[in-house]
Amino acid sequence: MPTFTFNPGPSAVYPAVRQYLTDAFDEGWLSAPHRSEKVTSLVRQTVADFKSKLNVPQDFTVLFTSSATECWEILAQSLTARRSFHLYNGDFGLKWLKYAQALRPASTGLSFGVDEVPDVATLPFSADDTDLVCITQNETSTATQLREGFILNLYNRLGRALLAVDATSSLAGLNLKYIKADVWFGSLQKCFGLPAGLGVLILSPRAVAQARVVNDRAHYNALPALLAQMLNFQTNFTPNVLGIYLLSRVLADREPIKTVHQHLSDRAQKLYDFFEQATPLQPLITNPETRSTTVIGLKGDAGTIEEIKRKALEASLLLGSGYGPLKNTTIRIANFPAVPDAAFEALVQFFVKEFPQ
Ligand SMILES: *Cc1c(COP(=O)(O)O)cnc(C)c1O
Repeated sequence: MPTFTFNPGPSAVYPAVRQYLTDAFDEGWLSAPHRSEKVTSLVRQTVADFKSKLNVPQDFTVLFTSSATECWEILAQSLTARRSFHLYNGDFGLKWLKYAQALRPASTGLSFGVDEVPDVATLPFSADDTDLVCITQNETSTATQLREGFILNLYNRLGRALLAVDATSSLAGLNLKYIKADVWFGSLQKCFGLPAGLGVLILSPRAVAQARVVNDRAHYNALPALLAQMLNFQTNFTPNVLGIYLLSRVLADREPIKTVHQHLSDRAQKLYDFFEQATPLQPLITNPETRSTTVIGLKGDAGTIEEIKRKALEASLLLGSGYGPLKNTTIRIANFPAVPDAAFEALVQFFVKEFPQ
């Protein structure tokens, strides 16, 4: 096993997870009935900690799902009566569009360049017949992000449509302004530093109202059923109690999101500066405005990339591969909270030693 892993998902877990797992076993969480007081109070406490540690407004609703992918489908079936509009520049955003079109064929999308900040005023959707406008805050596949100012402008242009944000690889890493969108979601195997198998779906009061109007009753994970069960801190299926327990432990140990955000921003800046100057690689994204804070994308020719990944592994550093069409010509480095500063120091030392410029 490499000493440090920079894979952007599933990503490095906190070393403390080992102890949490033992505690989960010893404290009887693994066979606790999910409608018992023991589990419902855990869920209640976890949701409360989630909101306070991540600055989620009190009147927003937090639901548990199994993955971010499940959230894509829930949003199409339970919040989209007619169509959704998707703005994307990479594979995750495109996949979301395809899942939406499979259920709501009138849904449309627009792709934009990785170095581009899209112009909100000219986006081709009409607030009259679009239920949901969908963006990926941090596109893990291209290592780009849409910043706060853009999301705010888009939110102000919505009219009656709702804004849904895939924040899978930034949720719990960045101090997101939840008030400026209606739906946010992600999963635990990225910035929470936990194993996969639990997704989180965050809804504004406007989104909850919309779920009532659409009134989907055709799916086991339809929003009205999930919302009704959550009033009692339950789910209509047996939930991932272990995942929720691990989440509760991580949240209790976490610093406030503002502190985490600042730490990751500073670390990202240092990394971009380092790779711009001192290595055979270049940042994949040229425009500093569109570069991701939590996933650092680097590019090079396929031979160099292959050599770097191989030598890094010999030095016990697992670098993330590129994604989809960028697989062979890029490297992705997770700048997630659970990756310690020591890992980045080792990474810099590795490049200084093996690839002196
Ligand atoms: C990882 C990821 C997903 C998929 O998450 P799952 O929990 O595997 O469904 C979706 N969107 C983005 C942006 C991601 O990074």
